[in-house]
Order: sequence, then structure tokens, then C-alpha cells
Amino acid sequence: MNVARKSNLAQAIEQMPKAELHVHLEGSISHETIEELARKNGIDSYAARGRANPARLRYGHLVDFLEAYRVRCKCLRSADDFQVACTDVLESLHALNVRYAEIMIAPTLHRMNGLSMDEIMPVLARTAGEFSKKNGLEARFILDVGRQFGREHAWQTVREAARQQDSGVIAIGLGGDEVHYSPELFVEQFAWARKQGLHLVAHAGEVGDSASVWGAVNSLGVERIGHGLGARGDEALLETLRIRQIPVDMCPTSNVETGAVRSYADHPLADFLRRGLLVTVNSDDPAMFGTSLTQEYSVCWQELGLAWSELKLLCLNGIRGSFLPDKDKERFLEEFTEELAEIESETGLR
Ligand SMILES: [Zn+2]
Repeated sequence: MNVARKSNLAQAIEQMPKAELHVHLEGSISHETIEELARKNGIDSYAARGRANPARLRYGHLVDFLEAYRVRCKCLRSADDFQVACTDVLESLHALNVRYAEIMIAPTLHRMNGLSMDEIMPVLARTAGEFSKKNGLEARFILDVGRQFGREHAWQTVREAARQQDSGVIAIGLGGDEVHYSPELFVEQFAWARKQGLHLVAHAGEVGDSASVWGAVNSLGVERIGHGLGARGDEALLETLRIRQIPVDMCPTSNVETGAVRSYADHPLADFLRRGLLVTVNSDDPAMFGTSLTQEYSVCWQELGLAWSELKLLCLNGIRGSFLPDKDKERFLEEFTEELAEIESETGLR
């Protein structure tokens, strides 16, 4: 690739409008803001960062990461803290030219700190609404059930989600320790959530195998899969994901950092995309992994070998795979397509 094309591609990646579907509020708060909140609430900021040097964290195992995450959540102790954190995260996304985001929150960890989503969500809705008016970035929220906290906490989370739909909660997610807790444990909660009009998504096949992905699709009936690495090698599953166009939210740097894959070379994103799966690219916990959505697009180009045409496909899939109503998807797709064409004519890319 010649030098001019290379710099044009880097420029195009920066400029492209983006949608972020797999990003956790708590794991996206900048180090400066986490420091500030930790100091305010008397939490050891060393522990909140998870590592002494936050420049590029590397976790031995997903469970180590979850522990660092738990400590991070302890820095958020009031609705005001959430407002500060949410503004910080929205500003970071806006700086990357993100136009639409579905942001996950882990209610159980906050419940354990004495906070209810009934208190937090109206504050987040107001914060996101004001930010959107000013900056044009639209955000919705997903409340994530933490598998390891058990079924009773799961019920509390889905009930909070159902009550907070007017505050921008659009879906229930499933996260946490995938190795020891199967999707099947939460069938009743997810079925109930669906009846309340919530969308359903699950982390599946992040460190678990294809059975975990099958369980999320067949037992929980999720409409989208987070990570999906475990589908590798299961042709029937890959074919099901392709035919039904069940979006798979992939987060390459997160997977390298938690040890879910050995290296970028081992990541199946390019293979899944080329098979015709509806793949999206995301940053997961950018502050904890030293990445950003823009950087993830660069990883797709430079480490995973995607061409510009494939980066464009990922970009539009970010809208296609979202939980937006069809009319909003059409509006965003039109806007994105137009802007991508402008970027192409400016940079000379095809
Ligand atoms: Zn995640």
C-alpha cells in the first residue's frame, strides 16, 4: 500500500461517523475522572485503575478484569457521580465522531453500593438528553445482568430496566463470568424482559464455547451477541448467525487484553465478516484497555487486514445491528452513507 493511501485511510477512519453498540459506562470513564471520583469517595485509585500504570493494561484472565471492574464501580457513589461519569464518557465518544451509542451499565455492582437504577437512570437520561441536544450524539442504555450474582439480582435488574424504559433503557444484557454461569440460568428473567418490550443481548462466546452462544440464541432468544468468538469452528452456528443476520458485536483489543484470543492474528472478526455475518466493531471498556472506537477501526485495518470497503460495511453495520426502530435506522444509514461518500471523494479512497 502506498504512503498516500495509508495516510488517507487513517484520516478516513478518524472522520467516519460511528455507532458504538458494545461499550460499558464504568469501563469507559477516563482515568482523570476516575481519579477525581476515587479521591472524592475515599477509594484507592490504584485499585480502581486495576494496574499501577494505566497506559496499557493487560489482564491475566477475564476474572481478574472483572475484579478490577468491581473496584472501579466503587468510585460511583451518588447520582451526581453518575452524571459526571456519563458526561465524561459521552464527551470521549463525541470526540471520536460517534453519533449513536448503546451504553451498558452494571446495576448489580451499584446496588451492592446502595444505589438503585430507579435513582440513577433519570439522571443519566437527563444528562444524555442535554448532551444530544448540544452535540448531536444520541445514546440509549442497556442494563447488564451479572451472571455471577445469581438469579435474584437478575430479577431486580430486569425489573429496574422495565421501569426505566422512559429513561432510555432499551435492552437487557447478560455479562460477567461466562465460564461458570450458563445463559440457561436466566431464561425466565429474559423471557419476562422481552414481554415488557425490552430488547435482549448477551455476552456469549467471549471466553465460553459455542454452547454458550447457542444457549444465548436458543434459550434466551437474544437479538445480538457480544463477542461471539466461541462460534469459531461450529459451522452450523456460524450459518445460523449468518442466515438470521444476528449481529455479533466484536471488540478485538478487549479480547487480546483479557486473553480471550492470543493475538490480533488469532481474532476471527475478518473471517466472520467475510462469511456474511452481521459483524460490528466496538471498544468494550476503552479506558481500561487503552483503546478507542477509532483505534479499533485502525486495528481492523492494520492488524486484521480489512480493506476500506470492509471498514465501511462495519461502520454501517453499527446502525443495522442497533436496537433503534427502523425509521431511525434509515435516517442514520442515509446520513452515514452520505458522509462516507464525502470522505471518499475527499481522500480519493474507493
Ligand atoms: Zn462487554
